[in-house]
Amino acid sequence: MNLARRDVMLGAAALSLASSTRVLASEDRPLGYAIVGLGNYGLGRIIPEFANCRHSRLAAVVSGDPAKAAKVAADHKLPKRSIYAYRDFDRIRDNPEVDIVYVCLPNAMHAEFSIRAAQAGKHVLCEKPMAISVAECEAMIAASRKADRQLMIGYRCHFEPYNLEAMRLARSGAAGKIRYVRSEHGFVAGDPEAWRLKRALSGGGSLMDMGIYSLQAARYMTGEEPVAVTARESTDRRDPRFREVEDMIDWTLEFPSGALGSCQSMYSASQNHILLMGEKGRIELEPATGYSGQKLWVGSNGRDRAVTPPPGPAKTQFAGQLDHMAQCAANGRTAIVSGEEGLRDMRIIEAIYRSAREGRTIRLDGRA
Ligand code: NAD
Repeated sequence: MNLARRDVMLGAAALSLASSTRVLASEDRPLGYAIVGLGNYGLGRIIPEFANCRHSRLAAVVSGDPAKAAKVAADHKLPKRSIYAYRDFDRIRDNPEVDIVYVCLPNAMHAEFSIRAAQAGKHVLCEKPMAISVAECEAMIAASRKADRQLMIGYRCHFEPYNLEAMRLARSGAAGKIRYVRSEHGFVAGDPEAWRLKRALSGGGSLMDMGIYSLQAARYMTGEEPVAVTARESTDRRDPRFREVEDMIDWTLEFPSGALGSCQSMYSASQNHILLMGEKGRIELEPATGYSGQKLWVGSNGRDRAVTPPPGPAKTQFAGQLDHMAQCAANGRTAIVSGEEGLRDMRIIEAIYRSAREGRTIRLDGRA
């Protein structure tokens, strides 16, 4: 057979496979995920969550540690052919059991593996932060578009009932006209050798890792996009943990309505908090964005009334996120937290760093 014609036929077969995948995706045929990176999050948090899913299942693992990968595969009854190393990851193209690749690697590896996954014809769910630069985020979006595959970012709070209820209350005017949102996120970093504290792998310090929750909160609680940001940093560079990345960073977002987003992140204190203040009252979450144990209050002067939201459609926020991606992949829909959403955050993150560095306000709306 003429090679060009064979390519056309293979292309047609791939297309018909893609459309049959769409038709077949249901609770009877949950979509298959490959988890890339068997660390604390991928292995410890995500893999156990497939038991809570209706539309998603574990289909493959990708790891740099063959013994660990073999054990995880055996524990989950995956065949040997569904174990990949980072090196031979691109072979995943030939595995019809894998519909979605979930990237749970250090931040600086997100772009490479998301792009390789899209080029292998797979949908991608990528952990936060989406990547370590705007340019990388744009390349990831372009690769997914070119492959006609979905790209979603692991912003799990959009599937977490307390955060969803807080957003609903804010939009419904429960606090009146919004004046400001405060949000602080952090933990106390330990081992100075951890990848989170190495710039080449993390892309930055507490802002990349935890500040992104504060930034997301300011955006989803106000429902607005910031027009300017002013930031400053406080880092003890003599501390061996902070030779390469920032410890504490504080930034103020200006929103078009006049509301302010007052945000912080740090690697030297434990914080997990969102507070929205309006002319009529307040909406407060603490802990706000953890894996579980959220608490939500509304009040006029303080934490007057605790709110228990109705349970979400999924058993957990993690299962909700996995199943949302599976349904988007199956139906050709864009995820509620798509690559574009990750890119919006990365543009703001770059502006926050620039503001702290240059000691001035950075406009985000293109005005001088
Ligand atoms: P981790 O260190 O526990 O796991 C990282 C994995 O990447 C490990 O399996 C490690 O072996 C592998 N790896 C491959 N190359 C590596 C290299 N050069 N250096 C270090 N590790 C390498 O990290 P984690 O906590 O699982 O974080 C992974 C990603 O998940 C990060 O992007 C992080 O921001 C994100 N995360 C998200 C949440 C959330 O709630 N959404 C929570 C934790 C982590």
